[in-house]
Amino acid sequence: MISEKMYSLGASPSKIRDIFEYGKKKKAELGEENVYDFSIGNPSVSPPDQVMKEIEDLVKNSDTVELFGYTSGPGDMKVREAISDYINRTHGTDLDAGHIYMTCGAAASLTITIKALTPDSEEKNEFITFAPYFPEYKVFVENAGADFITARSDSETFQPDIDDLEKKLTPYTRGIIINSPNNPTGAVITKENIEKLSALLKKKEAEYGHEIYLISDEPYRELVYGDAEVVYPMNCYDDTIVCYSYSKSLSLPGERIGYIAVSNRIAKDNETYLSICGAGRSMGYVCAPSLIQKVIAKCQGLTSDISVYKKNRDILAGALREYGYYVVQPDGAFYLFVRSLESDANAFAEKAKGYNILFVPSDSFGVTGYVRISYCVSQEMIERSLPAFKELAKSYGIG
Ligand code: PLP
Repeated sequence: MISEKMYSLGASPSKIRDIFEYGKKKKAELGEENVYDFSIGNPSVSPPDQVMKEIEDLVKNSDTVELFGYTSGPGDMKVREAISDYINRTHGTDLDAGHIYMTCGAAASLTITIKALTPDSEEKNEFITFAPYFPEYKVFVENAGADFITARSDSETFQPDIDDLEKKLTPYTRGIIINSPNNPTGAVITKENIEKLSALLKKKEAEYGHEIYLISDEPYRELVYGDAEVVYPMNCYDDTIVCYSYSKSLSLPGERIGYIAVSNRIAKDNETYLSICGAGRSMGYVCAPSLIQKVIAKCQGLTSDISVYKKNRDILAGALREYGYYVVQPDGAFYLFVRSLESDANAFAEKAKGYNILFVPSDSFGVTGYVRISYCVSQEMIERSLPAFKELAKSYGIG
């Protein structure tokens, strides 16, 4: 016997992966240069040189038994100290190593956090996020046995709609998941909106008599272009947990490294932290990979060269607008959210395949009528793809 739920997750991979795999086949058939694959968010910029230098240094100059050995369950103490110090210096917080739990990336950070915040005794538990959202949230929430609820975002700016959230909050709400800069829209939540959100949650916590945690999923925190400010939510709302990852900021998605930061302003912060440790333990997410923990401790504050993404964004968004596409203005991350040229975004994405352009219909992200175009690709591929985008628009009588 097997778990039917786990079977169905394994047997039907995400739409993003599906299109990515289709792209690999097409490239083998037609040649790499003839397929314009905008399906996946795999960074196209190398990690900073310092990352390589630290890896070499550690491998050459450390006791390898210690270097490759288990760290303590929540992560190496010195690494956690380096991270809490960096967060404090950057955001004016007052965290220590006892607020940081090292993980295998944001996916693990979220899975652990959601599990830790789902009480065992309640008959019903709910987590709310704003659509469009990263599709795996639903998987993580449902895996914890909780219900996945969505609220709207503004249809122009894609800012979270806090009035809609108010309608969705219930005494069973355990947490709100936010993601800024956002995958798939690139929207950065404004300070005003974070303040509105935190005022609402404070009011509802008082009304319900228990915490409603704010879970801030932040793999794109540093990927902002222009002067958009990415507010540190712990500074606005006490009951905050940050789920961070180095996958995008340091271009290390395959190394699986990130952390959970529990706010020291949570009334029972140590209990919350220990339930994070317990959730990590229960799922086998202990001792995040040792070598890369030690590397990132020495690379705090560094990022890959994100000017490359800004250039890509400007070239692609500029050209698509010129051809008549409607492009949501992205302030961060590395995705364009583009209105579908027909009402069914799935049909639009299928038609684009005929031009060898691969992107993801927005239905996967919980809204209809858009597609997500990942621009963490080479500038050269973007430039090569432009005539195909133009032809695709023309096939709809646009441009
Ligand atoms: N959250 C969002 C919004 C993402 O886009 C991703 C990956 O693309 C993740 C979480 C998972 O990140 P990680 O690779 O660090 O597990």
